[in-house]
Amino acid sequence: MHSHSDDSIQGQIHKPQLDRLLRFDRHTEERYEAEHGAERVEQLRNSIVFGVLLYVLHGVAKVALFPGSLIIILYVTTLVVFPFAILCYIYIGSISYKSRENLIFAGIVVTTILPVYMMYDPEFGTELYSNVDVLICIIFANVLIALRFRHAFFYTFATLIFPVMAILMNADIDLGLKKALSFQFATVCIVCLYSNYLFERRRCMDYCVSLEAVLRAEAAETSRKQFQIMSKTDSLTGLPNRRFLDEQLDEWASDGRSAAVMMIDIDHFKLFNDTLGHPAGDECLRTIADAIKDVFSQPGQFCARFGGEEFTLAVRDVDVLQACRLAGVVVSTIEALQIPHPGRNDGLGIVTISVGLALKPASEMTTTDKLLTHADEALYLAKRRGRNRFVLSEEMPVSPLQVSL
Ligand code: GH3
Ligand code: MG
Ligand code: MG
Repeated sequence: MHSHSDDSIQGQIHKPQLDRLLRFDRHTEERYEAEHGAERVEQLRNSIVFGVLLYVLHGVAKVALFPGSLIIILYVTTLVVFPFAILCYIYIGSISYKSRENLIFAGIVVTTILPVYMMYDPEFGTELYSNVDVLICIIFANVLIALRFRHAFFYTFATLIFPVMAILMNADIDLGLKKALSFQFATVCIVCLYSNYLFERRRCMDYCVSLEAVLRAEAAETSRKQFQIMSKTDSLTGLPNRRFLDEQLDEWASDGRSAAVMMIDIDHFKLFNDTLGHPAGDECLRTIADAIKDVFSQPGQFCARFGGEEFTLAVRDVDVLQACRLAGVVVSTIEALQIPHPGRNDGLGIVTISVGLALKPASEMTTTDKLLTHADEALYLAKRRGRNRFVLSEEMPVSPLQVSL
């Protein structure tokens, strides 16, 4: 039985697909290639070397048995098979997987042409001997090279037709033997193709199963991260929430670097809601959050929603003058937004904020609670002294400073 979260993860993941010709969907193919492409190139290169050696050995054996075939074997081996093998060996490492598999397919087709041709031309007297050579090519292509099944399918059937026709057209053998040889030939082709199919299907299905497990694990990890982000984000403003603030400040309060904490409170916000309505109040909170976020988005700075219409801005590595300058920037940034506040009765007519600033000097330890309490006390003073301003906490190691805008 699946749990609810398993089901939702299942819905998110891209399920690997495999068609009848054992082709992955594009996404899966690309991923497979990224993970196993190099391995495939190495396997192909080894097979190319092995195949060329085999080809040369067979050529030698054939020339020994049928000296008349020397010239054609020499020409084909040196002018066609060698160059093609070298070309494949070099290029399969640097081309796309589709081109690579097509090139290998072309290579094996080229290699098969000579033995097939030699089944037709009675000049060499190698017709039946070459029958086995063609079969070796088919075994080599299906099993050793392990052509992708779609290629193996076309190659095997195309290759089957020509030698069988050569056997049937051979005037030196009687009908019974023709049938028996053709049947044998077809059987070997089918066995080879079937083993290619089984091998390829196992490869593809094993990969699909493992990929699905990996994708499910990745999706679970993504959901976990999303959940973690959500659990630390305020849904109305998109700012970090109180949980994030506490965690971050716990770190900053207890390390050796300086930190400034500003408690920000919107002035007369209840009146704003009362006159313009709660939705307009929400919009105002978002606007203010965005404005602060825009100005304080450097590393070592963050603004969190403390709760209600209060925000906390924290900045690292600042001295008292820099902190005061930044507090002034926050106050003037919100004032500059010129958000109409028809409800307030002190004549200002726009939304403003008050800020309480507390500072932890470098190489001093304190606690989150203390920092927030000091900032809150300074905020209370800012309210008392007329709002739309900041006040630096008196609990600071420097003389109290009040700045009015
Ligand atoms: P002061 O200048 O002294 O801070 O006055 P104030 O009216 O801002 O302070 P008060 O604490 O009396 O009111 C805060 C108001 O903030 C009351 C509440 O309706 C409003 N508020 C808190 N959270 C939200 C919110 O999420 N959305 C909206 N629209 N209003 C909120
Ligand atoms: Mg308040
Ligand atoms: Mg307020």
